[in-house]
Amino acid sequence: MRILIAEDDCTTRKTLAGVLKKNGHEVLEAVNGAEALQSMQPPDAPDLAIVDWIMPEMEGLEVLRRVRAIQTDRPIYIIMLTIKGDKADIIAGLEAGADDYLPKPFDHGELSARVEVGRRLLEMQGKLIEARNALAHEATHDPLTGMLNRRAILNHLHKELSRARRHGGLLGIGMCDIDHFKRVNDTYGHQTGDEVLCGLTHILSESIREYDSLGRMGGEEFLVITPMKAGTDPASVFDRLCTQVAESPITTRSGALSVTLSIGAAYATAESTVDELLEAADAALYRAKKEGRNRACLSEERVRR
Ligand SMILES: [Mg+2]
Repeated sequence: MRILIAEDDCTTRKTLAGVLKKNGHEVLEAVNGAEALQSMQPPDAPDLAIVDWIMPEMEGLEVLRRVRAIQTDRPIYIIMLTIKGDKADIIAGLEAGADDYLPKPFDHGELSARVEVGRRLLEMQGKLIEARNALAHEATHDPLTGMLNRRAILNHLHKELSRARRHGGLLGIGMCDIDHFKRVNDTYGHQTGDEVLCGLTHILSESIREYDSLGRMGGEEFLVITPMKAGTDPASVFDRLCTQVAESPITTRSGALSVTLSIGAAYATAESTVDELLEAADAALYRAKKEGRNRACLSEERVRR
C-alpha cells in the first residue's frame, strides 16, 4: 500500500516509516498538517494515512475534517496517532473522520496489525466499487454489441433534448434498421446474425462523430443521436451512414456479408418531446423501407417547428 505518515516529530516519523517499509509498504512523509493535507488530495492520494494529532500549521483534526470533505470514490483509511489517550479525544478524532487510532508511544505489533485491518477494509471497498461499476455497466449496455442499451440511449436522448432546449441547438436522430435482417438469420444462422450486428455496430461507431451517440434499441434496430449546427442537413449525415454501411462488408464465420440500412431521420428543436421525435423517426423509417430500403428518409415535418 501507499501510506502517508503525517508526523512532525522526526524520531517517531522515522520509526513509523521503518516498521511500514519492513512490512513492504511504500511510505510518504509529511512534516506538518498543511503538507499532510496537500499529500492527501486526489488523484495521488495514498491508500492509508497515519496522522498525528498535534502538528504545526494545521492540527491533525482539521486535516481530517478537510480530507473528509473531499468527494471521492476511494476514501483514504486514516489512523489517528496521538498521545491524547482520553476518551473524549478519541471520540473527537473518530468523529472528525478517523477510521482508527493508535496511542503514542506505539507498539510495533499493534501498528502492523491496525494497518493490516485498514488494508483488508480497503480491499473490500475496492471490490465493492468494482462490483458496483460492473453492475452499472451491465444495466446500461447491450451485452452482445457493447453499445448503450435501449434504456440508456433513451436516457441520453432526454438529456440531449434538454441541452438543445437550453442552448437552442438542433438535435438530429436516426432510427437505423438493417434491411432484410431475418434473411441473414434464416440463411446463415443466428451466430452469423450476431456477428453481423457486432460488425455493423463497429462500422456505425467508426462513422459517427465524437459527440454523436449510438445505442441498440433492440433486435436489428439502432438509434443514432447527433447534435447539429443550424444549417446542417440531417438527411446528408444519414445518407453518408447508409453508403458507408453498404460499402463495408462484414466478416463473419459464413464469409464476408454486406448489409444495407434504412434510416428514418428526424430533428428536433426546443419544443419537441422525445416521444414526438421517435414517432417522427419511425414514420420516416417506414417510408425509407417503402421507397426501396438502403436509404435515409427525413421526417416530412420538422418536429414542431
Ligand atoms: Mg506532533
